[in-house]
Amino acid sequence: MEIAVISGKGGTGKSSITAAFATLGKKVLLADCDVDAANMHLIMNPSVEESTVYVSGEKAVINPLLCAVCGLCYDYCRFDAISFSDGKYHIDDVACDGCRLCTRICPEGAISMVKNDKSRMYSGSFRNGKMVFGLLEPGEENSGKLVAMIREKCRKVSEKNNLDTTIIDAPPGIGCAVISSITGTDRVFIVTEPSLSGFSDLKRVLQLIESFGIKRSVIINKYDLCLPVSKEIENFCLKEGIEISCKLPFEPEVVNAMINCQSITEWRPECEVSKILKEIWNKLQQENLIDCKD
Ligand code: SF4
Ligand code: SF4
Repeated sequence: MEIAVISGKGGTGKSSITAAFATLGKKVLLADCDVDAANMHLIMNPSVEESTVYVSGEKAVINPLLCAVCGLCYDYCRFDAISFSDGKYHIDDVACDGCRLCTRICPEGAISMVKNDKSRMYSGSFRNGKMVFGLLEPGEENSGKLVAMIREKCRKVSEKNNLDTTIIDAPPGIGCAVISSITGTDRVFIVTEPSLSGFSDLKRVLQLIESFGIKRSVIINKYDLCLPVSKEIENFCLKEGIEISCKLPFEPEVVNAMINCQSITEWRPECEVSKILKEIWNKLQQENLIDCKD
């Protein structure tokens, strides 16, 4: 069974909840698909067994030995990736979109394209099973493609190690990387928080999932920080026939758990948040025969 944890926006507590799920099962496969801001490896401290280069695209480079300093490339670059200083033209790696226009207009043939190959996909083991994650270099693109590569690797790892449960930490938002993260999953948990922006983003995510026909349910995190908006979210879900898995109270120990590289269920198993998350996990076990630790 593949379970994805997603959210409409960052900072809702999605990764904390994913970490809790990943440490509640007996043996799981954990996939960190939030490749633009991957952090699950910091909490789980996996041993890396395999590292794969991910080529996210191309960027332009100027050969200063051939450049006649005519400035044509600077004039034509629509992404303002080219600048002039110290008597030379330079291309900014991050700003370059890889459109290749400059290579075509350079009269000296001084510009060539090189591969963006600093991003990586890693796979290995963590304390509760196997883990696959990706790290996309800042400014590099095609996160959806890297996520697809992670999902494919997950299928192979889960087959080879006979792991029935995959927990996916998906990126926030509704972009390609999210679509790539949830495609083919059995269950999606949408984490939201009681703020107007959180509520608005929740609606957008629900619209996206609707088209996939995946079983989905909502987790209202830190619901007690704004009871009126929590109530609004609850009423909305009730009206739309969307299951609310649980409402988690604000728990300051969640941050301490992260600081100590543990999930909240490991760090404070007796706290209310841990108990609720464990109940959800047990419910999944009853529904789908997921293995629990006890
Ligand atoms: S167009 Fe070519 S020759 Fe002209 S400044 Fe750019 S790199 Fe140099
Ligand atoms: S490849 Fe495109 S974006 Fe990059 S420097 Fe050349 S013109 Fe600009």
